[in-house]
Amino acid sequence: MGIDRRDFLKRLAGIGGVALLGKGAKAYAGQPLGGFPDHLGVLVDTTLCVGCRSCEKACNEINQDLPRIPQESFQDMSVFDGRRRMSADSYTVVNRYPDPKDSERPFYSKFQCMHCLDPGCVSACIVGALTKDPSGAVRYDPWKCIGCRYCMAACPFQVPAYEYHNALTPQVRKCTFCFEARISKGEMPACVEACPMEVMTFGKRRELITIAKSRIKKYPDRYVRHIYGEHEVGGTGWLYLSGLPFEDIDFPKLGNTSVPSYTEPIQHAIFKHWIPPLTWFGVLGLLMWFMKPIENKSEPLSHEEGPEK
Ligand code: SF4
Ligand code: SF4
Ligand code: SF4
Repeated sequence: MGIDRRDFLKRLAGIGGVALLGKGAKAYAGQPLGGFPDHLGVLVDTTLCVGCRSCEKACNEINQDLPRIPQESFQDMSVFDGRRRMSADSYTVVNRYPDPKDSERPFYSKFQCMHCLDPGCVSACIVGALTKDPSGAVRYDPWKCIGCRYCMAACPFQVPAYEYHNALTPQVRKCTFCFEARISKGEMPACVEACPMEVMTFGKRRELITIAKSRIKKYPDRYVRHIYGEHEVGGTGWLYLSGLPFEDIDFPKLGNTSVPSYTEPIQHAIFKHWIPPLTWFGVLGLLMWFMKPIENKSEPLSHEEGPEK
């Protein structure tokens, strides 16, 4: 009976094969994943969003591997009655939030993978199915994936979804940053281009931070003094401005240390002593429990400060 590479890796990931995978894991653990000087990103100014869902529609159109959703479905605004998360069928979703100061004008926010500078998902993936590209995109190779879902436990934003409905070839699904279809050809992501309100600005991350700071300085009454993603978990490629405190629009309050900074010393020890991958999964679960959102309000923004240490 034949065995494809996916099945082979799945079997290898069992107790008996962990030693071999451990060797592979070491090849990825501890790599300097952040610090790319030309890291691309997107600045999302949520104060401009009107909840038209054009970004969701464009994402579905460009990602042909997603289930085809009838185009008229994206005109259904009843989805805003609840809060949605990204799923195996949607790489991005927009949610609505009431403005306590203006009941006539709600806020909206778009969510997708944050393309972290030092991504927990990449560090946790023991077979290298998730990788950080120098462009900033966190990419996924389904051919390498063994379906262990460590990446899901390691993501502080609960982004990766899993195709539970796909019994034979389930994949982890998340926003690709339109790497293959757009970024690698020098084009902006489809959702950015589709937005009629120019909510999103695509460019080099460091330039986006300058733009964000100048907007906050120019319109202090419009924004909370915080650029979400500038420092959180070591920094993210997607950055956000908001008129409401970020915890009020479902952004977790996270520290400035990246997930791999916590996990990789443990990961090294686990593989060094040949402990089964189930233990690693437990460690990730514990880590995420410790990293659960803190309830403090947003910290004040310092326009002149560099990243907090
Ligand atoms: S948001 Fe989650 S899935 Fe996206 S790069 Fe960061 S850790 Fe990975
Ligand atoms: S960057 Fe591409 S894959 Fe990601 S949310 Fe936008 S359109 Fe979808
Ligand atoms: S396309 Fe732009 S304005 Fe419309 S929902 Fe998406 S981010 Fe908001």
